[in-house]
Formats: sequence, C-alpha cells, structure tokens
Amino acid sequence: MRVYKFGGASVKDAQGIANVLQIVAKEEGDLIVVVSAIGKTTNALERVVNALWENRDDEALREYEAIRDQHRALAQKLGLNKAIQDSLFATNLVTDIPRSANYDEFYDQVVSTGELNSSRLLSAYFNANGIANELLMMPQLLITDTTFREAKVNTTLSAQNIKGALRQSKSHVFVTQGFIGGTSDGLLTTLGREGSDYSAALLANFVDAESVTIWKDVPGILNADPRLVDNTILIPELSYDEAVELAYSGAQVIHPKSIRPVENKKIPLYVRPFNAPEQQGSVICETTKRVDVPVYIWRKNQKLITMRAKDFSFILEESLSHIFDIIHRHRLKVSLIQSSAVTISVCVDNTRYVADAIKELSDAFRVTYNEGLSLLTIRGTSPEILKKEQEHRDILLTQTTRRTARLVVKE
Ligand code: ASP
Ligand code: MG
Repeated sequence: MRVYKFGGASVKDAQGIANVLQIVAKEEGDLIVVVSAIGKTTNALERVVNALWENRDDEALREYEAIRDQHRALAQKLGLNKAIQDSLFATNLVTDIPRSANYDEFYDQVVSTGELNSSRLLSAYFNANGIANELLMMPQLLITDTTFREAKVNTTLSAQNIKGALRQSKSHVFVTQGFIGGTSDGLLTTLGREGSDYSAALLANFVDAESVTIWKDVPGILNADPRLVDNTILIPELSYDEAVELAYSGAQVIHPKSIRPVENKKIPLYVRPFNAPEQQGSVICETTKRVDVPVYIWRKNQKLITMRAKDFSFILEESLSHIFDIIHRHRLKVSLIQSSAVTISVCVDNTRYVADAIKELSDAFRVTYNEGLSLLTIRGTSPEILKKEQEHRDILLTQTTRRTARLVVKE
C-alpha cells in the first residue's frame, strides 16, 4: 500500500484533476489517495464561517453559493452526471448547520465540507474514468477529541478503524479526505490548517504503507521558497530530523506534524511535482546525509511578545511555567524564545488567540509586543551569509548557533 496526497492546488481545476487521474492510473499497487479541498475553498469557507458568526447571513449565502456553483461547474466540466453535480454542497451552509455556542466547533462543522466535497468529486471522477475506488469517510474513521480546529487524533482507535475498513473492502484504490476527522459523538473536526499532509502521514503509519508521496506545485524540497527567491536548489534527500526542523521553522512545503508518524515506522516520504511526475523530487527518509546548501525559511505574520516582571524581580525560574501554561492554554504557536535576566520574549504566529493570551499574561507581567514581523531561519549559515542577510533589514532580534541563524525582522 502507498499513500498519495494531493493538495488544493493540484485539484484546482478540471485540467488539474485530469492530471491527478493520470498520476494515479500509473500506480499499480494498492493506493490511498488523500485529497485537500479544491483550490482556495478552505479560505472561502472560513469567510462563510466568519460572516455567519457575525450574522452577516446575506454575505455568507453569497459565498456559499459561489463555492457550490464552482464545485458543480467543475463536476460538469469533468463530465460527471447531474446527480453527482447536485450532490456537491447539497447541505446549505447557511441554513442547515446549527450554530453552536463555540466558534471553533462551528468552524469545523462548516470548513470540513471542503474536503468532504472534493473527495466525493474525485472519487466519482475516478470511478467514471476507469479507476474503481472506494470513498473512505474520515469523520467516521479518524477519531479525534473535541479540540476543534486542532483536534488530537486517537491513534489507537483510528488505526483499528482504518485497518478494519481496508480489510472489509475489495478495492485497491481508496479516496479519502485530508485535514478532517470526527469525534465519537459524530461531530466533524479539523486537524489544523494545511493538515492534509498530516492525515496522509497518519494513514501511512496505520497501514504500514511502503511510502507516502506528497504531490506539490514545486519540484521538491528546495533550499528556499521559489516564490521569494530566484535560483533555488533542490534537496534530493534529507533526514526526518532535518525535515522537522525545516517544517517547524516555517517551510511551507510540508506540515510539521507529518514527519513523526512516518519516521516512527521508517516510511519514506516523497515530495514530488504534480506537473512533472516523471521527476523524482525529494525524499525524507532515514539517512545520515546532511543538507549541504544553506536553507532559507520564512515564517510570516509573527508577533514578538516581551514579558517583564512588574516588580523588576528576577523573572525567569519562577515565571516560566506560568508563562508557558498560558501560552499552551491559548494554543499559541511559538517559533522562537529568548530570555534575559529580567525579560522573556516569545515569537508566535499571529493567530486570533493571541489577544486573549496577552490579556492574561498582562495580569502578572508588563507585556509589550511588536507585530508585522517575519522570522527568517537560515540553516547552514556562515558569517558571510549572516552579514549579507542583516544588511538592509530592520531586525528586532537575532539568535545564532554555529549552523543556524534566526532573525526576527519587520515585514
Ligand atoms: N484544505 C485545508 C487547508 O487549506 C487542508 C490542507 O490543504 O491541507 O488548510
Ligand atoms: Mg491546502
């Protein structure tokens, strides 16, 4: 069994979906195909949630209808029959989903429809074009807790469910949803934005897959983001540890959570270009090879929060656990930590949870913050590289070790 994951960009239009069919048709063994929502659907669904949450129902309805029509037009273009077209986004997101008291819970009920519908469409298209397959429903199989928007997977139960579903099936190809799961009470959950890679890695772990392939719109894992830098270099092979470091630093190419599940079972994870499937791309695997080119990773939209004891006493030992308890409870994602005798600074992703966390931190500390920042991590740095990168930038903080430099810079 192998696992293929296709992100939103690979299925954004009829041509993309036809290309996915070609790639899948070449695979001879058993295969699980994990798919994200089509194109930018998840962003559009977030707009629906926010409009509904603020009682702007007319706006929500317009957004919902646009998403629905786009999916149905795509199905039509792919030659799928009317019944399949009409089944897409048949649930009216404005009128048919009860508004729960909790934003995150409501978010998951709405946003997970992106993957439910992309997978339905892809499965139907495969069936209509010679790839018989079964559609697996992650909300019933991948069981999570109720940490909505960042649900924790019950791996024991989910592994049992998924192995059971495969055992009972005569199919060789399975299509399923990335990014989503469900609680044992039947509520839908999501695993965190861009979480489809993580779903693919978990499924591979559960079924002891031979490999996972993430098909992307880049040639593989590069030493810098090709959208920001010319002359990038492909890294053909890297270790699981190196991959975690890159992903955690903000490399967009792969979700940080997706490495551990494959590493645990020594499953190689390939990153390959969907528009040039004959190319090998990159592989993350058990290797002692070190990456031998400098790697530049940007993590955008950061906030640097600095805490100082109100009475100027020595802050560190007594306060660390208190600070990190608050950070953890508010689900902040810490990208860098720096301390001095009287202050501690943390750089975090600027999410909607940050304001509440700062409020709570302010009870015990004097808190200041800067926003509109990016974190630049350079792995395999040298004094020359660092000097060059520090020129012409407005830098708030620099942290260096022998091989890695991290700069918090104004955007
Ligand atoms: N569709 C989800 C997102 O855009 C999950 C994913 O793409 O991995 O965040
Ligand atoms: Mg995506």
